[in-house]
Amino acid sequence: MARVQFQPRQTGWMDPAVEFRKGTWNYAAVPDTLKYLDLPNPRRWSPPDEDWHLPDNWQEIIYEGLRDRLKKYRSLQIFMDICVRCGACADKCHYFIGSGDPKNMPVLRAELLRSVYRENFTAFGKVLGKIGGGRKLSRQLIKEWFFYFFQCTECRRCSVFCPYGIDTAEITMMGRELLNSLGVSIEWVNTPLANCYRTGNHLGIQPHGFADSIQFAVDELEEITGVRVNTPINRKGAEVLFVAPSADYFASPHYYTLLGYLLLFHATGIDYTWSSYASEGGNFGLFHSSEMMKRLNSKIYMEAKRLGVKFIIGGECGHMWRVLHQYMDTMNGPADFLEVPVSPITGTRFENARSTKMIHISEFTSDLIYHSKLRLDPSRNDHWRTTYHDSCNPARAMGLLEEPRYIIKNVCRNFVEMPENTIREQTFCCGSGSGLGTDENMEMRLRGGLPRANAVKYVKEHNDVNILLCMCAIDKATLPPLLQYWVPDVEVGGVHEMVGNALILDGEPVRKTDLRGTPYPEVVEVGKEGAHA
Ligand code: SF4
Ligand code: SF4
Repeated sequence: MARVQFQPRQTGWMDPAVEFRKGTWNYAAVPDTLKYLDLPNPRRWSPPDEDWHLPDNWQEIIYEGLRDRLKKYRSLQIFMDICVRCGACADKCHYFIGSGDPKNMPVLRAELLRSVYRENFTAFGKVLGKIGGGRKLSRQLIKEWFFYFFQCTECRRCSVFCPYGIDTAEITMMGRELLNSLGVSIEWVNTPLANCYRTGNHLGIQPHGFADSIQFAVDELEEITGVRVNTPINRKGAEVLFVAPSADYFASPHYYTLLGYLLLFHATGIDYTWSSYASEGGNFGLFHSSEMMKRLNSKIYMEAKRLGVKFIIGGECGHMWRVLHQYMDTMNGPADFLEVPVSPITGTRFENARSTKMIHISEFTSDLIYHSKLRLDPSRNDHWRTTYHDSCNPARAMGLLEEPRYIIKNVCRNFVEMPENTIREQTFCCGSGSGLGTDENMEMRLRGGLPRANAVKYVKEHNDVNILLCMCAIDKATLPPLLQYWVPDVEVGGVHEMVGNALILDGEPVRKTDLRGTPYPEVVEVGKEGAHA
């Protein structure tokens, strides 16, 4: 404590001065990517550079962009005007908690934009300037915007606590859009966007590569379970189109979730298909601009139309569900060529998806369990002592709170909740969503993930939890290094990985390992279906 420097900064918060210290920022988008996406000002630059090579008329671009968005989005105009600076949101942001940097308080993050708004769009700010809360638009301020708008994971936790419902994530989205208009963005958002635009998924995997990955999973599943599953791809006339985040068929531990989906579809025998063209549920457009989000999202409906399915099921992904649930219908809908989803197994009609025609796999699976349509052996997950991380977007944005818990409690015998103020609507972000999960940004990721990791630490120490389950591909990518640093020995897994472990398939021999290939401690009654101890 003696080494802590308590001396407050001598400069006021209105004087922007950002230090681009290694580990706290993301690489800049490369020119080829910007050109491919037809985005402005493609050039080589790096955040620590003195000169960012902004366009000559950069101030005009920002003012015009802000004016347009104030007209277009009533919410933005309201959020600019109604904050009373009560501070209720201040300590709710994981980046503020983890970094201790006052400008990471949601109220001050919003002030980054609000101050420019006041200076130029309010009579008070125009006349009184700084005294009226206004700020001149400077190149230094653009650097500050970049630093802090890319230290917001758009998780919306702050909005839960704001008495006026101000959603700082939306202010961040507008801030990022304005930065994009100057060609100021990050590589890890733009290259996945370009890949998705070109091949249908963030990873740039081409259709035959996608088919190979699924085939590989089929072979591996056969080795684990002794059962060969059917995985139709691009099959016209199927009843259901299934769309997963691409990390599920490529990365670990996501891949075990994929194995779980395949077993579930095999066990239920639903008439479904994958698409090698809409092979990405996630939508990095959410972290870029509404226009980009719309462009990528349209692929899902276009494929559903081309294949002639009745409705769509989506896999375990975070931002995919915010885009689908909150924007898809107005951006690319109404999807009148589809039907209101009806489970072919239980007959349940998902009225909640009346408009989008797309349901989350946890809705589908929990409904199956509720109607006793799955044969499950939860003891196959006894080596896991589980807790559940509500991924920000499915939980806060969609209200998918009970379905995953219902599934986990039916497929696992050991489940414990993390502390109340860290779950459900109040869940803490993984610290790396929204395009911030890069290795060069590792210090910030680990700082931002501290509150999440702390809650995991609590249940590890009190309940001996050894796996954190979640329903988001970004979580599955970024939580493992987070936990490795703050809470070693806690793994990360998907909800449908646990479903796949527990599912008893017709004609399967005794399962000797879980989907990760971890041997079960002892196997009893060899030859008896689904039995293990
Ligand atoms: S809680 Fe809402 S009104 Fe209060 S400071 Fe934060 S954003 Fe402003
Ligand atoms: S949206 Fe999340 S990351 Fe952004 S300011 Fe609010 S709490 Fe912080």
